[in-house]
Amino acid sequence: MGNIAFIGIGSNVGDKVKKCRQAITKISQWNENTLLAQSSFYKTEPIGYTQQDWFINCVIEIETSFTAYELLHVLEDIEISMGRERILKWGPRIIDLDILFLNDEIIRCKELTVPHPEVQNRAFVLVPLCEIAGDYIHPLLNKPISQLMADVGDEQGIKKLGSSPKKLVS
Ligand code: ADP
Ligand code: MG
Repeated sequence: MGNIAFIGIGSNVGDKVKKCRQAITKISQWNENTLLAQSSFYKTEPIGYTQQDWFINCVIEIETSFTAYELLHVLEDIEISMGRERILKWGPRIIDLDILFLNDEIIRCKELTVPHPEVQNRAFVLVPLCEIAGDYIHPLLNKPISQLMADVGDEQGIKKLGSSPKKLVS
């Protein structure tokens, strides 16, 4: 145990909320991982390649004994087990699992960039992240998530679905 990771979850194919829930269950099924917090689900508009269906996004916090690379491979295996195919970069995906942060680690490799390089540009990451980690300081930008969220503004279309955030372990 010991590492704290934030994972961004997204889906825009089929029953999107169900896919996100399945991914969270699969992540939690590893003994190495403990789910600490889960944001609300958000309905969000596609950015980049916009000719595709809307997304469901959420963010979770886990405690994990995996290293960053081990966690990346576990997340890739879950994506594949759920039927993810990489056809088009930024195109439709059954499930997308991104490591947003792992402790305060800074990793820049071909395979893995942590913090995730797009965190500060994406309302669909910042808004759910702010629910569960508004005070977390981005280790490269040295600003809290709440500030990054204010900086990005509210022009990107995102809409909260029903239930409120859950703090699972105090
Ligand atoms: P994206 O999430 O950018 O739309 P993909 O999910 O297809 O794209 O991921 C492409 C590659 O991004 C993965 O094979 C992985 O090696 C790499 N990658 C780099 N940094 C990260 C990160 N922080 N979390 C997840 N994947 C990452
Ligand atoms: Mg990804």
